[in-house]
Amino acid sequence: MKKLGAILALFLLASVLPVFAPAQNSPATADQDYTLIPGLAKDLIDTKADPCVDFFQYACGNFSKLHPIPPDRSSFASYMITQEHTNHVLRTMLEKAAAGGAARTPNEQKIGDYYAACMDVDAINRKGLKPLQPELDRIAALKDKRELTPLLAHYQLTNDGAFFGAGEEQDFKDATKQIAVVGQAGLGLPERDYYFRTGDVAEKTRKDYVRHIMNMLKLLGEPEAQAADEARQIMQLETALAKVSLDATSQRDPQNVYHMISVADLQNLAPALNWNRLLTEADFPPVSQLNVAMPEFFKGMNAVIETTELRTIQAYLRWQLLHWTDPLALPKALDDESFDFNRRQLLGALEQRPRWKRCVQATDSALGEALGQVYVAQEFPASSKQATVEMVHNIEAAMEQDIATLDWMSPETKSRALEKLHAVADKIGYPDHWRDYSKLTITRGDEYGNSARAAIFENLREVHKIGQPVDRGEWGNTPPTVDAYYNTSMNDIIFPAGILQPPSYDTKATDAVNYGHIGATVGHELTHGFDDEGRQFDGKGNLSDWWTREDAKRFEQKADCEVKEYSSFVAVDDLKVNGKLTLGENTADNGGLRLAYMAFIADAKRKGIDLTQKDDDYTPVQQFFLGYGQEWCGTQRPEALRTQVQTNPHSPMQFRVNGVVQNMPEFGQAFGCRADQPMMAANACRVW
Ligand SMILES: [Zn+2]
Repeated sequence: MKKLGAILALFLLASVLPVFAPAQNSPATADQDYTLIPGLAKDLIDTKADPCVDFFQYACGNFSKLHPIPPDRSSFASYMITQEHTNHVLRTMLEKAAAGGAARTPNEQKIGDYYAACMDVDAINRKGLKPLQPELDRIAALKDKRELTPLLAHYQLTNDGAFFGAGEEQDFKDATKQIAVVGQAGLGLPERDYYFRTGDVAEKTRKDYVRHIMNMLKLLGEPEAQAADEARQIMQLETALAKVSLDATSQRDPQNVYHMISVADLQNLAPALNWNRLLTEADFPPVSQLNVAMPEFFKGMNAVIETTELRTIQAYLRWQLLHWTDPLALPKALDDESFDFNRRQLLGALEQRPRWKRCVQATDSALGEALGQVYVAQEFPASSKQATVEMVHNIEAAMEQDIATLDWMSPETKSRALEKLHAVADKIGYPDHWRDYSKLTITRGDEYGNSARAAIFENLREVHKIGQPVDRGEWGNTPPTVDAYYNTSMNDIIFPAGILQPPSYDTKATDAVNYGHIGATVGHELTHGFDDEGRQFDGKGNLSDWWTREDAKRFEQKADCEVKEYSSFVAVDDLKVNGKLTLGENTADNGGLRLAYMAFIADAKRKGIDLTQKDDDYTPVQQFFLGYGQEWCGTQRPEALRTQVQTNPHSPMQFRVNGVVQNMPEFGQAFGCRADQPMMAANACRVW
């Protein structure tokens, strides 16, 4: 679902943590290719560190020296080396497809020409602001607030997030249905709390943001005084929207973002717009009801529209148009200004990513399953799929055993939990059916048009699902993606080909190492079905309470232990991890490593592996934990860390490692830790 925020707990593999400053003497460049690091990388280990005091430092202590943060990145990590490598592979494919020739398949024509148009900066700069002119004319032509309805309907298709977003989702309460949904949007800062947080850093960010809006409006041709004035008014308008927006933590509770009402009731809630007309013009099929995810927001947004002067709304719409347009399609000065605020100031990146990398990513996001077909044929061996499927089955069997032996859960709830576990669909590598892009026109030399048509194509595809049966085979990310996710409504886990590469999955590494890496990630995704959010959905993907009251209470007590544990971790300066925002991910990290451990031990027993025998300096159990630790090696610039802690449901890397191993006594045993050492928590938390 576009623009509506992180309602699903996606395993974003987002940013990491700055523990070490990048070494000065080994500068990385933004263009360099990387060799994939192996599953067990001994050169990353800091042998001077004590694994029982700080396991993250032990497993990953040399990472920043060997792999300094490239200047175009705000953080760097093991999995980002895989991303960088994959970028180079995709670039070669796209350059070949772009070189043309009559023998190109229709998909090769599309990805090749999309990439070529994106790389054609001369054409983009020559056109300047001309491609935006029809959109600017529409805003200028507004004579009355009633005319906002058709304009905002149009924005639902073009991905302009001014005011709100509308789209499609599976009905939380009946996962066989695909319904219409509207949710909050309209902000240019990353999250609503950015508008209200106190302190020097927060105040500076707001000041820089107002200057950024002003700079963008100036680049649109507005005189300085007018741009400055409008930027202040736009900030006021956005602050009013932020005031009625739901914060990131509250959005994690499905009950907070599910309010089925009739279109007539939405009309009463927010009469400034004509909702029937808006949905019709955005090409939604007729609906009687829809999910108004955040009713308070729509009430508040209505007041903002009614009390703000039309010319201020027009200035806001011009700004939002610039904010939501892909900067790759904008002339250089606007692209540079967008980088300066969004990536340099908010995340600490030193320089813009090379254009080719951005164009690879843009092609993947516009035509992911066309590019994915070419990628999978070249890069993904059938043996990797088979091995992963086998591991997933072993980890599902471990979860079955885990649920059966839990001492805090009643037999009734256990049988429902097993029912849910058995219903999980495993999707590995790439989809069985590929998306059809034949109706999407991609033209060389037309970056803005390609990007706009791709957005409309995708939004229409989404909207036209409303009222149709659910396609259970659909994928929410593309095959080259170095990431994985669990989807509560589908009750499925997805592991694209991109993540099934070293170090996460290394055919040359031992089973122990692979169970620690990708095995823990499989366990992580599976556990999402049973974290504080996922547990509220049943095996069919429906929001329904299948827990006995007693069991639900015990679950909450156990989860609360993790809230307290992670809330005590200091991320940067005075900023602590938000234990509530990160609860689902922390539960998944902890459950994931335990399930992988159980599956690994069972597998080793079947294969007759001696768990005390050192191989390559480490016992198999130590290798398992090192594999896990090294999945999360990385460093992060302080700006990026701050943004992550304030907006992202994942804990910083250091805590994803140390926070988890200190909850597992098996770790302390494997490394011979003493009871009073930091990685041996006296009151270890355990949910699953
Ligand atoms: Zn996750």
